[in-house]
Amino acid sequence: MLKYKDLIEVLKNAGYPKFRAEQVFQAVYKKGGNDYENISTLPGELKEFLKENVPVYSFGVGNRMVSKIDGTQKVLFELCDGKKVEAVLMRYSDKTGKRNTVCVSSQVGCALKCAFCATGKLGFSRDLTAEEIADQVLYFDHILKAEEERVTNVVYMGMGEPFLNYDKVMKSVRILNDEKCLNIAARGITVSTSGVIEGIEKFSEENLQVNLAVSLHVPTQDGRAEIMPIARANSLDKLMESLDDYVFRTNRRVSYEYVLLKGVNDGVEDARDLAELLQGRLCHVNLIQYNETGLPFKKSGKSEGEKFLEILEGSGVPVSLRISRGQDIFGACGQLAGKENAG
Ligand code: SF4
Repeated sequence: MLKYKDLIEVLKNAGYPKFRAEQVFQAVYKKGGNDYENISTLPGELKEFLKENVPVYSFGVGNRMVSKIDGTQKVLFELCDGKKVEAVLMRYSDKTGKRNTVCVSSQVGCALKCAFCATGKLGFSRDLTAEEIADQVLYFDHILKAEEERVTNVVYMGMGEPFLNYDKVMKSVRILNDEKCLNIAARGITVSTSGVIEGIEKFSEENLQVNLAVSLHVPTQDGRAEIMPIARANSLDKLMESLDDYVFRTNRRVSYEYVLLKGVNDGVEDARDLAELLQGRLCHVNLIQYNETGLPFKKSGKSEGEKFLEILEGSGVPVSLRISRGQDIFGACGQLAGKENAG
């Protein structure tokens, strides 16, 4: 969807007053309208103009899969150049209430080639625009509004490295946070990087309450560089330095994502190394179950995960063990779009 100012401009050039843009925004962002035909406040000829000139989404909507296990939804979007990306909706309900989290893609493919990642195998194709990113959330918000719910959280953990598309990602964050648009609290938004130090430095200077997550996955430089080539130019020492600086400047904690890979990073020594690395740092570790992708990596067993958790807890490092969502619909990033872009 166009930005508010751009929509005013397009409508003005076509001879429509500003309040029409307000009506369109109200209908699309606040009332869940995804079809101009159903917006009763708009005259017929304006509906026709909008249908032809201002699509609600900046992409076509393809296949939607819903997990029978946990209700997770994954959708494939077809961009105007035929490329495909995916986004996932995860729904949680617990004592603290309901959360509807959308995981968005920020690029088509990814240049960083993490060895365990299906998207990494695709290589990089192009950056997404801010609208293409924000519209992934708008799409799921429309689905939820039909059930009188809304998107409450957004994580930039789908296809691509957000900090290699920094400006568009930050622009999309502002669209999501804008009260005229989806009005998602900044604290409900998390940008996740695999460790692009330059991006972390810029992010430290943003005056936003948006969360930062880092995909760490291995607690030592050599081990990390082996499965995450980004670590060669962005060493673990320098990465931790930049994260300390981020915490110092923002006083916000960093989430460390750690996918447990059988026999690669899930041993007792790995857990001890991780505990030592994070000791005394303002952080939270998310241990994540791996979704097997056909790549030569396997998910860790239950007992390894529990032992890992115990060691971190015993060292006073805040940690949670996450169950992977949507396992029956290829929940890990890049697995659905990877198949489509290849075929
Ligand atoms: S894990 Fe993230 S950064 Fe690494 S290749 Fe996949 S999409 Fe890129």
